[in-house]
Amino acid sequence: MTKILCIEDNLRNMRLVQKMLAGTPHTFLEASSGTTAKEMIATQEPDIILLDINLPDVDGTQIATWVKTTPELAHIPIIALTANAMHGDKERFLGGGCDAYIAKPITRRELLDTIRELLKPRDIDNPEHR
Ligand code: MN
Repeated sequence: MTKILCIEDNLRNMRLVQKMLAGTPHTFLEASSGTTAKEMIATQEPDIILLDINLPDVDGTQIATWVKTTPELAHIPIIALTANAMHGDKERFLGGGCDAYIAKPITRRELLDTIRELLKPRDIDNPEHR
């Protein structure tokens, strides 16, 4: 079962994302702060991370950079979710270690397509992808 970790401090947004994923087989893990997120990533090793960039304790890109510079975790795809779609943001997130970027308000279609795209290599029975 695909483990999806949603890192989001706004509970309404968390529930919205969870609702959008309903009907797809997965385990939904939640973290509402950067500290909790890091703990969950290290202990749960999710298959994919949905990352709100605006968190109370850290900038989401710090989490992305930490994941991508930790060898055991670097393979985990990260989708940045953010409201502040300003010029240069996309480059900043992708440069910071995020694999994809979705601007809020996100749509179910966009979320599912992006997740599917990033998990695709694992559909193939490739030992490199566990
Ligand atoms: Mn937030």
